[in-house]
Formats: sequence, structure tokens, C-alpha cells
Amino acid sequence: MKIGIVGAGVVGAYLACRLSSRYNVEIFDKKQKDDLGHDCAWLFHYSDLRNYCEKCKLDPVNYLEHVGRLFDFFGVPVTINDQITFNKHQFLLDLLMRVNGVHFESKISKNDLDDYDLVIDATGSSRNILPSVHKLEPNCFIHCYQLEVESHDLPNDFYVHPAGLGFLWAFPRRGNITRVGCGSFTTNPKKEVEGYLTNKNYKLLRICSGTIRVVPPSKSKPFLLVGQPNIVGVGECIGVVSPLTGEGIRSALRCADLFIDALESNLNVYGRGVLEKFNHVDQEFALLEALRHHQIQTLWRLLKISSPFGLKISKGAALKMLFDKNHLKNMQKTFSGMYL
Ligand SMILES: Cc1cc2nc3c(=O)[nH]c(=O)nc-3n(C[C@H](O)[C@H](O)[C@H](O)COP(=O)(O)OP(=O)(O)OC[C@H]3O[C@@H](n4cnc5c(N)ncnc54)[C@H](O)[C@@H]3O)c2cc1C
Repeated sequence: MKIGIVGAGVVGAYLACRLSSRYNVEIFDKKQKDDLGHDCAWLFHYSDLRNYCEKCKLDPVNYLEHVGRLFDFFGVPVTINDQITFNKHQFLLDLLMRVNGVHFESKISKNDLDDYDLVIDATGSSRNILPSVHKLEPNCFIHCYQLEVESHDLPNDFYVHPAGLGFLWAFPRRGNITRVGCGSFTTNPKKEVEGYLTNKNYKLLRICSGTIRVVPPSKSKPFLLVGQPNIVGVGECIGVVSPLTGEGIRSALRCADLFIDALESNLNVYGRGVLEKFNHVDQEFALLEALRHHQIQTLWRLLKISSPFGLKISKGAALKMLFDKNHLKNMQKTFSGMYL
């Protein structure tokens, strides 16, 4: 079987690595090699990094950058033990090392793909190969602005604070290098980042902005188009990103695993598997909408059933967020207008 993968982000590169030993695989990305994986803040989970490295015979230590201890989440210190930043760029390049047909700077459209038996749409937020979901999509992109800077004046652990209806984050890499970014529906992310960096000494290393697509899987169908070629969507392009946090690496890779299992057994079960596994994304999406109308009750439900960025928020921290007027206001402002 000849498989064409469009997009060499985390899904495309991982699938290319896993599938190339058994199938004839070619992978394309519109970016140049040096830019791969940079439109992301690189927050990940060490347990997942270990797991996926093992599957691809890579050493996780080569990618580990910052190990989180205390997450400053909306002013509430939350103890963490699995959150890290990792060098996603190098991880993607290493995944692609054993793949023969890797093509950078190749922007692909559906018409370029007639030669393949199976095409994987791994184009992330742009969903360039599968048909778009017109009615919903204009309201469901978080546009982000992000800088990589070198500075002694920034937090030395994970930091996330509200920015209008969105977040501002500072995630340390190694040394004094930090990714400072903002994604928001109501404020200008660029101004938020620049405002945060005002009066801080820093050296700009890279602009690494991007867009997050927060359309849940149930509203991202079809996942699979049968034809010549068959086209299947995996990762962010079919809505697995957390609408509350924008976190998408872990879910994209889990979605890729579901796809691999289905490819080896029965591709038709893939869609059902995605809907089952990522049911919580629909819940988060629904919670965001409900939050606009039932503030405290919904916020309480949100804190109980969801764990933003994989954080385990203690009851004490949750109560603080609920009853501290500023935290509550900030949480509501952040989450409530996402789908206005
Ligand atoms: C600023 C920002 C910060 C983020 N930070 C985090 C974070 O810290 N942790 C986290 O878990 N998630 C984060 N995310 C989300 C996460 O990056 C994505 O959800 C995840 O990478 C999705 O993986 P993917 O492989 O599905 O898509 P992507 O990683 O987006 O990969 C898609 C690839 O397809 C390529 N492509 C698109 N169209 C074409 C075409 N027509 N032809 C060829 N190539 C094409 C693109 O160039 C890209 O390389 C962040 C997102 C943004 C925008």
C-alpha cells in the first residue's frame, strides 16, 4: 500500500516513523526543515514522551528541556510532576530520520494525491485535505502570538495567566530560554505578549506563532473519505485539541495510535474510536458554552471533571479560584467568551 502523509507535525512525523517499516510511505510539509514544530510552546508530559520514544526507538533524554515543579496557574500555585517542555523540533526530525520519502517546502493540495492508495491528512489546524466544516469553523480558531526569548527576568517554571478571553503563558525551555505566548478571542495576543515583556530585559530569539483549532471531533466529520485515494484525518484536523487549554500534542499522538490500530485491523472502526476516546473534548466544548449562563455551578463542574494542562487542581485551589473574586472573574473572562 502506498501511503501519502500531508503534514510533518507531531502526527505526520510519528505516523511516518511507525508506518514506514511496513508500507511505502511519503510525507510532505509546506515548511522548511528548520521551521518544523516551532509553532507550539512545547509543553508535554514526560510519561508520554517516554512512551512515544520507546515506540519509535528514541531516547527521551535527548528531548527533555525543562521539568516542571510548580505551575503558576491563574495565580494559584499547583504542584506538578509530569509536565515538561521538550525539544519538539528535534523530536520531529529524529522521527523522520528513518523515513525515505520526506519532502519539505512542499505545499500539497488534494489534487496532488491521485497516486496514493491512502492519504493521511495531518495538516493540523488548517485541515487542508479533508473538506472543511464551514458553518462552525470561523468561530473556532484561537490565533496565537508567541516569542522565544532569552531572559533572566521571566518565571523559572510554568506560568499561565488570563488574557481577556484566553491565556498568556510563559513556558521555560533550557537555560534562560522561555516561550512567551498568548492566544485570545478578545484581546490582541501580540499586544498582550509585548505588554508582559515591557520592562523586562530580553533577547528575541524567534517568533513562533500559530493557530489552534478547537472544533470538537463530533463536529469535525468526516474523518474518513472513501475513494481513490482514501483520505483519513488524524490529529488536530479532526478536533482532538483541548478547547479549554489548547493542549494538543498528547491527544494528537493518542489519535495517531488509534489510527494505527485501526489500519492494522479495520479502518472503519477508527471514526467510532475517535468519538469515544475524545468524548471529553466535546464535554469541554459544551462546558464552555454552558459556562456563559451558569457561572459558578459550571465552573465547579469544570474544575471537577477537567484537568487543564493535565493539572490536578486540589480542592483548596479550586475553592480559592471560586471564592476569590479576581480568580473567578478571570476564569469566567477567560473561558466564557470563547465561542461567542
Ligand atoms: C502557539 C501554539 C502553542 C501551542 N503550545 C502547545 C503546547 O505547549 N502543548 C501542546 O500539547 N499543544 C500545544 N499547541 C497545540 C499543538 O501544537 C497542536 O495541537 C499539535 O501540534 C497538533 O498536531 P498535528 O500534527 O495534528 O498538527 P500540526 O502540529 O499543526 O502539524 C501540521 C503540519 O502540516 C503542515 N501543513 C499544513 N498544510 C499543509 C499542506 N497543504 N501541505 C503540506 N504541509 C501542510 C504544517 O506546516 C504543519 O507542519 C500549541 C499550538 C500553538 C498554535
